[in-house]
Amino acid sequence: MTTGAVAAGGVWADVVGQEAAIEELTAAVAATHGDPGVPAAAMTHAWLFTGPPGSGRSTAAKAFAAALQCADRGCGECTHCRTVLHGTHADVRTVVPEGLTISVKEMRAVVQLASRRPATARRQIVLIEDADRLTESAANALLKAVEEPPPYTVFLLCAPSTHPEDVSVTIRSRCRVLNLRTPSVPAIAEVLARRDGVDPETATWAASVSGGHVGRARRLARDGDAREQRARILAVPGALRSLGDVFAESGELLEAAKAEARSMADGRDATEIEELKVALGAGGTGKGAAGAARGSVGAVRELERRQKSRATRTERDVLDRALIDLSGFYRDVIVRAVGARVPLTNPDLTADVDTAASRFGATGALRRLDAVLACREAIELNVKPQIAVEALMTVLAGIGEPAR
Ligand SMILES: [Zn+2]
Repeated sequence: MTTGAVAAGGVWADVVGQEAAIEELTAAVAATHGDPGVPAAAMTHAWLFTGPPGSGRSTAAKAFAAALQCADRGCGECTHCRTVLHGTHADVRTVVPEGLTISVKEMRAVVQLASRRPATARRQIVLIEDADRLTESAANALLKAVEEPPPYTVFLLCAPSTHPEDVSVTIRSRCRVLNLRTPSVPAIAEVLARRDGVDPETATWAASVSGGHVGRARRLARDGDAREQRARILAVPGALRSLGDVFAESGELLEAAKAEARSMADGRDATEIEELKVALGAGGTGKGAAGAARGSVGAVRELERRQKSRATRTERDVLDRALIDLSGFYRDVIVRAVGARVPLTNPDLTADVDTAASRFGATGALRRLDAVLACREAIELNVKPQIAVEALMTVLAGIGEPAR
């Protein structure tokens, strides 16, 4: 099968450690060009990109979208390629949930736009990041479009897995599933050095502690604050000794999450509201201004509601990242406590991990790991973060735990 020389570079350059997926996708692109020897069935109108967080689902989907639109199959240089990768291509609609869910209203609008003929490119492409955040009715609106696809439209969905909790069985059955794997440490280090200009030593360190998450590795390599946050959260297990520590550490973690959400919203929220008011012509005095002002109050409220939902999402994402760091730590403690010969998630913290292994043992570490996972689940199920985090810290501190 010819998949083209472009596979090694062009838009695929940032799709890290996914050779098999790239081969399948370039074959699909080749099919749209009618290459001899490539079956037409190599291409289909609906794809589901799955893989662990950070494996590059949306990066792969975006590269595929560019390769489909590009006359040269994803050269990475032309207007099609560049605008798709920047998210500004007229015939590629990207749905990125900023709140907790993707609403039916949003999905219907996207589906309707996607049924038009492409304006400048070869296809109309709808790219849905985090398809696991579709509400049930939004999923139904999408399902209708995927079942009776308009002739030029391609749907690209991204989700953690094909589990029914992530993607409904009916949508899944209409899609070709492309499963991405966790990229290797050397593959991540290579892309950090090549694309982001990170020095090789830092690139290798960041890749080794990223748990295979490319975006996380990049943040750790380039952002001192991210390194500091990681160090702070991974110091928690050793710092928890008393009930006082439980409340102090919980408060600090929750406050850090709030602060990060605030700093991301700062300026942006106010600018959006200003822009909306200008767009609605608020402040005018002419005929009809009173009616416009009444309408704009509703629109501003709607925007404020979305901003609040976005802030909640950010706060939870920050908390979740901290909890993932903690789960990696206790997983390492279990590995050392049972003497398993597998690489640690945090190879740079081997001394701390060993100290914890002798303090807690495998059973105590497992109890703590369970508590971290339960906390993530509780927050996902809308338990108030303060309650979930304090309950977690109590277990981590070993309060009420039988002495070893
Ligand atoms: Zn191109």
